[in-house]
Amino acid sequence: MDDKPNPGTLRENSERLFSFGVIADIQYADLEDGYNFQGNRRRYYRHSLLHLQGAIEDWNAESSTPCCVLQLGDIIDGYNAQYKKSEQALELVMNVFKMLKVPVHHTWGNHEFYNFSRDYLTNSQLNTKFLEDHILHHPETVPSENYYAYHFVPFPKFRFILLDAYDLSVLGMDQSSPKFQQCMKILKEHNPNTELNSPQGLSEPQFVQFNGGFSQEQLNWLNEVLTFSDKNQEKVVIVSHLPIYPESSDSVCLAWNYRDALAVIWSHECVVCFFAGHTHDGGYSEDPFGNFAPRSNPPSLASLGDVAKKLGEMWNNLSDSEKQPYITKVTKLKEKSEKDVANSKSKGKFDGAKGPAKVGQKKLEEEDEDE
Ligand SMILES: [Zn+2]
Repeated sequence: MDDKPNPGTLRENSERLFSFGVIADIQYADLEDGYNFQGNRRRYYRHSLLHLQGAIEDWNAESSTPCCVLQLGDIIDGYNAQYKKSEQALELVMNVFKMLKVPVHHTWGNHEFYNFSRDYLTNSQLNTKFLEDHILHHPETVPSENYYAYHFVPFPKFRFILLDAYDLSVLGMDQSSPKFQQCMKILKEHNPNTELNSPQGLSEPQFVQFNGGFSQEQLNWLNEVLTFSDKNQEKVVIVSHLPIYPESSDSVCLAWNYRDALAVIWSHECVVCFFAGHTHDGGYSEDPFGNFAPRSNPPSLASLGDVAKKLGEMWNNLSDSEKQPYITKVTKLKEKSEKDVANSKSKGKFDGAKGPAKVGQKKLEEEDEDE
């Protein structure tokens, strides 16, 4: 955390509308505690399961039950792949999640891809797309199957969007696919190092193998959903494994094309908050502003306090009969759980990538400082 003011302070007259849980980078492995590559950060591989259990017990014991939990990726550690324990480790963590009384929405991080292919994940318990909401008569808000992203509405006028930060990536992808070749091209264009996990000497240090980015297709979809939310005066929370705002993260941990994602978000009024995992130190920052996408009325990113305030205001303006469908909806969700801003600038930049699309060695990101 940086030394910004505490964002959690509520105004005296605000009323809590609903709550939700957030957990990131559980990185479970049946291993003794260890350290990251630099040896400066301890990793509690086995104990992370106990921490998850504790968090779940706390969520379940809340007097006002959270509507859902957002799991921000890296649910098991890449080491599991080395020991051929990926499926076993995932099963253990998922069994702990079964104690949770509310739905959990899973996002995918680099460690998911160290353990599993994208195809495997699509057919696994980590695909929670069935929890998505459909906006009737707006087919443009239905996500494509080419990336793992969706949106849902936990409460009236409030939409959550899960993004796929490894939509552009060299991890977990069929290495003979044109998309893999294209992603490797992008990575190599920005990272001339032999070791593609190394940010050494890079002017844009986020271009490392353990990060990824958002395809134009996904950004176009995000733009459509945000356009809908603007029109309907909704407030939107976005989640992704990778952070997109430099002030709230180590620059090595940002999504490759974080600027493109910010450009889409900043062209809308509705986004109030963005949550990400990956950067283990954590970070918080309010209102990105001024750097690359100036606009007259910027949203407040990553501000929990603002979200709480806005939620309280919105909820207070609803009648009991308007509230009822959402209360019913949450009950149903629980049951269910049981069983362009087409930023041509960036497009041109990526299309112009040159150089050989050589297949890189898949490596665990212990070489890196965080995530
Ligand atoms: Zn990560």
